[in-house]
Amino acid sequence: MEPAAMEPAGLGTGIEGIQPAGTGTGTEGIQPAGMGTEAVEPAGLEPAGLGTGTEGIEQVEMGTEEIEPAGSGTEGTEPAGSGTEGREQAEMGTKGIEPAGPEPAGLGIAEMEPAGLEPAETEPAREAEEPPGSPALPAGAPQRGPPAAALPGEGALPGRERGRRGAAAQGSAGRAARGRARRGPGRRGGAESVRRAGVTVDSSKAKTSLEALKISLRQLRWKEFPFGRRLPCDIYWHGVSFHDSNIFSGQVNKFPGMMETVRKITLSRAMRTMQDLFPLEYNFYPRSWILPEELPLFMAEVRMMKDSNPSWKPTFIVKPDGGCQGDGIYLIKDPSDIRLTGSIQSRPAVVQEYICKPLLVDKLKFDIRLYVLLKSLEPLEIYIAKDGLSRFCTEPYQEPTLKNLHQVFMHLTNYSLNIHSGNFIHSDSANTGSKRTFSSILCRLSSRGADIKKLWSDIISLVIKTIIALTPELKVYYQSDIPAGKPGPTCFQILGFDILLMKDLKPMLLEVNANPSMRIEHEQELSPGVFENVPSPVDEKVKVAVIRDTLRLMDPQKKKKKDTQCQSSEEPPDAAAGAEAALPSLFLKQVFPKYARHFSYLRLVDRVAALFIRFLGVKGTTKLGPTGFRTFIRNCKLSNSNFSMAAVDILYIDITRRWNSMSIDHKESSNPGMCLQAFVEAFFCLAQKKYKALPLHKQVLSLLELCECRLAALHGKRLVWGCGLAEPRGAAGTAPGPGCAGPRQPHGPRVLSLQKPSPLRTLMCRDRAGS
Ligand code: ADP
Repeated sequence: MEPAAMEPAGLGTGIEGIQPAGTGTGTEGIQPAGMGTEAVEPAGLEPAGLGTGTEGIEQVEMGTEEIEPAGSGTEGTEPAGSGTEGREQAEMGTKGIEPAGPEPAGLGIAEMEPAGLEPAETEPAREAEEPPGSPALPAGAPQRGPPAAALPGEGALPGRERGRRGAAAQGSAGRAARGRARRGPGRRGGAESVRRAGVTVDSSKAKTSLEALKISLRQLRWKEFPFGRRLPCDIYWHGVSFHDSNIFSGQVNKFPGMMETVRKITLSRAMRTMQDLFPLEYNFYPRSWILPEELPLFMAEVRMMKDSNPSWKPTFIVKPDGGCQGDGIYLIKDPSDIRLTGSIQSRPAVVQEYICKPLLVDKLKFDIRLYVLLKSLEPLEIYIAKDGLSRFCTEPYQEPTLKNLHQVFMHLTNYSLNIHSGNFIHSDSANTGSKRTFSSILCRLSSRGADIKKLWSDIISLVIKTIIALTPELKVYYQSDIPAGKPGPTCFQILGFDILLMKDLKPMLLEVNANPSMRIEHEQELSPGVFENVPSPVDEKVKVAVIRDTLRLMDPQKKKKKDTQCQSSEEPPDAAAGAEAALPSLFLKQVFPKYARHFSYLRLVDRVAALFIRFLGVKGTTKLGPTGFRTFIRNCKLSNSNFSMAAVDILYIDITRRWNSMSIDHKESSNPGMCLQAFVEAFFCLAQKKYKALPLHKQVLSLLELCECRLAALHGKRLVWGCGLAEPRGAAGTAPGPGCAGPRQPHGPRVLSLQKPSPLRTLMCRDRAGS
């Protein structure tokens, strides 16, 4: 590594050429030739902040004077502190998407305050997805004997393991002591010292998040059960997936199906569906194709785009599905370079446009890991952490050429790869080194006049839109694993969003991690084969705050309290409230439903999924049988002389067969029914057939409203014929009578909310249709 490449903030070359938004982005020239989705906007071709509907809304609120090209006029030339800060501060005085984080003193606004504006110590630590099956730290290890001692019931560990575990124990003990020191006399006493008897947490399956969880629980004074508990706990903290055990009550920190939903291929499919519906709103995800099934399509589309724009010289990145930590990833210049043989390469994969012009800091490419809490699926509640981590490459960046394509230290930001580079820098400062806080980057950008407020607003928007793309699939898994009527558990989950900033500061989503690493230490090789776990202050700062405040938000006692306070508002504040008051302000900030009104119109596939779930019938299934599909068509009255029931069957068979042949999950492909994505495709087909003249999202909306209206009418009839409980037709919140034959105006009010699992679902179980 060139020493110059790692200069301290503000001293050196700094942020390379922040370009006015819209100029010279990595995807320029990519034209949506012949894709039928003319609006799959080449990312970055439009000026930041001027483009999409939602951004527009946000920007209007923020005051249009802020719509300026990020970093315009600075382009790496403006010295830090040259008067832009003042303007920045003035601009912050406006109202906009209220960002996460405490409001900065003196600004008096809702600004996403980059946490850690004060320099924080930085140490690198594993920042990848937690690989399934990664070893758990032994529960209670911190208090145990000599470092190298094998734990009861364990055989001798190989040298590397022994070293690592021993050091982990030492590190933990040290940390425990530091923890005690932190809770020193100054902060003791008063409410903090009042032990909360209440909340119980099962940490027996926390795996590598155990250390951060323990610190969080100590800070909260909650009760940890490191070996599990015979009685139910309030909260179960799992390191990997929802399926670790049978839990019937309380809350668990994983959603069923999340791992499957955020896999590279599934995410790409979900994003493509949204790009088809709302191309401008979803232009933050690079155009992607799924291999091997879309190889011919990929080749044809690239050929067409090149034909229409001969100066276009694209690069693509191939990423194996289910891979993590950069495993098996490679870059290509030409579609014919895709490797379809060999063990890794033959895996299903996603091939994606490579973002050639990322924002550079100290000449290096970096990405951002941001933590997002999905607090609830129904109703949707999303929180974003106010700081994240930036992971740096270790070779100065050059735009991809045939010569440098293979240089992973230049093109891939994965910590797990770059740690092996001789240039990797473990730094004690948050502003230097190969891993830094995101806030330290924001600070530098801000000092160069970049519009940080807009950047945060774009990131919030990206996160909300991505989660909106994921929720339909998650709801299908949820109803299958936790059917309505079961006491629980309820779920929440911390997700790791990997985001790349383009030169124009436009954030692009790279991937979503279901199990972001929550390790707060990194490994150091003391001697060959012997590793020591060294605490990483920057990881601890960010990750402990994320876990602790996730727990605070999920606190079952607070919820109970809220419920009882509704009944008796006169109750005096209790000890729990006092202990809470002693904690720092929340590190996580709600962004949904807070900004729901900007994004709710995007939730069309959610409504399609609600229909799908209604007709699934058999509990525990995620696939719709042919009878269920026919019942859907019949109940929604979609069949007519132009579209016979025989045609319905053919549509079902065609689409279902194709989707099952593409299934990446063997278990799933042997289950012959129609999956959600296949149903969505069938629904889009029907919508296109019925409402030819409209754009796709209006076609889908029209068909949705028609179906919802007809089902509501049917529901009304059944109630009248059945139990006699029918509300008067057309009453508030219910559907109009069966006369509602046609679609409503595309932007009219929804007839009936299908967002909530309702008695309707129970009723529709009469339509249960197994295949
Ligand atoms: P993994 O799960 O294996 O880490 P990612 O999708 O995160 O896979 O990709 C690994 C790294 O490759 C990212 O951290 C980023 O540096 C780089 N990368 C991935 N996709 C792109 C892209 N479309 N354009 C530019 N760089 C990318």
